[in-house]
Amino acid sequence: MAIELKSLQTKQFPNWCPGCGDFGIWMAIKQAMMQLGIPQEEYVLVSGIGCGSKMPHWVKTFGFHTLHGRPAPVASGVKLANHKLTVIIIGGDGDGYGIGMGHFIHLMRRNYNVLYIIENNQVYGLTTGQTSPTSDQGFCTISTPSGVLEVPVNPMALAISAGATWVGRSFSGDIKQLTDMIVQGVQHNGTAILDILQPCVTFNKKNTYQWYQERVHRLGENEDGHDVHDRVAAFKASQMWGERINIGVYFKEEKPTYEEQLPQLAAGPLVHQSIDNIDINPLLDRLR
Ligand code: SF4
Repeated sequence: MAIELKSLQTKQFPNWCPGCGDFGIWMAIKQAMMQLGIPQEEYVLVSGIGCGSKMPHWVKTFGFHTLHGRPAPVASGVKLANHKLTVIIIGGDGDGYGIGMGHFIHLMRRNYNVLYIIENNQVYGLTTGQTSPTSDQGFCTISTPSGVLEVPVNPMALAISAGATWVGRSFSGDIKQLTDMIVQGVQHNGTAILDILQPCVTFNKKNTYQWYQERVHRLGENEDGHDVHDRVAAFKASQMWGERINIGVYFKEEKPTYEEQLPQLAAGPLVHQSIDNIDINPLLDRLR
């Protein structure tokens, strides 16, 4: 049965700054859930720490607001316990590409069947505007008043090389495209990475809605001939930043998921398996 919008509404309204790009992501997640036809109680939103990581509080389904940089291992645990659930990880660039970078990479090489949404606003918004791993070189913040020296993390190139089996990018100012990408990411069987260009209207005065609107290019349009199964073409698309930023599906491939390869899950989700005949005393004895 299709989900109605009102059943996804929570009593509280998000407390993001007016105009924050997270509002577009919030809308798109709910629109995607309405389109996907998955029962509401079969979703779990798992988030880290940051402005956008408050998302599970404002979408009425199961959720887990975890620690900074830790949504990927928690989501992996959810999938191992009940791999029939639809798990969406959500967090910011500081959370996923900074403190959570190790978890981000290992999630992709395992290929759990999850969608990981990264709200990439190129700044730490919740802590009032410090440089993040994706801040552009030269960007001035309270933590780098003379401008960023480091080369920014390229999340698309990283995801393509680390083994993600679906890699895409969206812009939170284009809710229709974003909704479609979330639907595709959930429907993909494997780890789907969706980096979302998300303006932080309060602390990032450079990468604004207008700045992105002037640069975003939909892959596959204007006969650019992008082949989503071509890893080299995906790398090439990932190198574009500045005059043109590609949105859409960069890369996808079919591979067995981690859950599909685990013999312990062949009999069904762990939560449904009987533990009556399992004796853990030998294991406990070894630890004594
Ligand atoms: Fe959004 Fe930035 Fe405000 Fe955080 S600080 S709610 S990212 S506009």
